[in-house]
Amino acid sequence: MTRVRILAIVHPWQSSQEERHQFLGTVKRLAQDAPVEVWSFTGQTHPGAIADHIVQSQGPSLDATQPLLVVLPTGTEGETIAAHIAARLGGVSLGRCRSLAVDAEGVTATRAAFGGRVTLALRSDARITCATLRPQSVPTAEAHVPDATEIVLQAAYPYPVEAVPSGSGQPRVEGASIVVSGGRGMGGPEGFEWLSRIASALGAGLGGSLPAVDAGWVPVAHQVGQSGKFVSPRVYFAVAVSGTPQHLAGIGPDTRILALNNDPSASIFSRCDIAVEGDWREILPLLTQELERALPRP
Ligand SMILES: Cc1cc2nc3c(=O)[nH]c(=O)nc-3n(C[C@H](O)[C@H](O)[C@H](O)COP(=O)(O)OP(=O)(O)OC[C@H]3O[C@@H](n4cnc5c(N)ncnc54)[C@H](O)[C@@H]3O)c2cc1C
Repeated sequence: MTRVRILAIVHPWQSSQEERHQFLGTVKRLAQDAPVEVWSFTGQTHPGAIADHIVQSQGPSLDATQPLLVVLPTGTEGETIAAHIAARLGGVSLGRCRSLAVDAEGVTATRAAFGGRVTLALRSDARITCATLRPQSVPTAEAHVPDATEIVLQAAYPYPVEAVPSGSGQPRVEGASIVVSGGRGMGGPEGFEWLSRIASALGAGLGGSLPAVDAGWVPVAHQVGQSGKFVSPRVYFAVAVSGTPQHLAGIGPDTRILALNNDPSASIFSRCDIAVEGDWREILPLLTQELERALPRP
């Protein structure tokens, strides 16, 4: 029987219900027999304000005989909050974890390093351990999601952050069950207009490789990979992406990859489940037309 108790944090940057559901389903699975509490924050939800609240409420009750694991969703906000809490309560922050488990002694985790080429096995027996966890695709019916305690933060935080909506209406790549992604071979923003239409028709998130982001064809919030977002959709449609380890490090191991590339020797073809060799300029307009006809948006 584990002594560890788990506090899962849901914060407002996890925008979609599906994203929250996947995250909480993943936490529930890792918990097994460990007690889990879920806190959901609304109001003045600056990452610093959320961290303050957790530090003030949990700090005094920390007990070496019952260590606390605070689990947050991966992403800038979750990682910021985790680092704040661990630093201020003398705990350990394990970073962006692939898997987490609790046992009688403490917490074990795995984390990717060196662009996914190496997996680190980590162990913490600290009084408080913080970690961010990549949500796995948990079928909705399977995941029993624990009830959340709603916490409304009232006080304005002295360092406000401005939330800028992406305006695309598409789901965020992190929680999407399908991601349509483009690389340098898209050649310009026009190519991304096709990808965006395909993503809208499928209700998918729009992703991009680092060069596509650097070129300004897709916003940085959509970057997939080692220095971008980690995604674990059911299907990842990679168009004109060569398949470097840095890009693939951002795609979950259970995700099926459908790759479209005009170079038969592209490395993505050795990692994908379905390979389509061809020029996106010929294929995407036809695909868009078919999808928009078959799946008209309301
Ligand atoms: C520390 C570090 C962190 C990094 N982090 C990331 C990261 O988070 N994400 C990331 O993506 N990269 C990252 N990179 C960069 C990475 O090394 C690669 O440069 C990048 O992934 C390549 O992106 P790409 O596949 O879009 O471009 P390329 O490798 O240039 O591939 C373009 C592909 O498009 C294909 N193509 C061209 N024209 C067409 C056409 N008309 N139709 C079909 N296919 C076509 C080509 O055959 C080619 O395979 C990182 C690098 C470093 C050093």
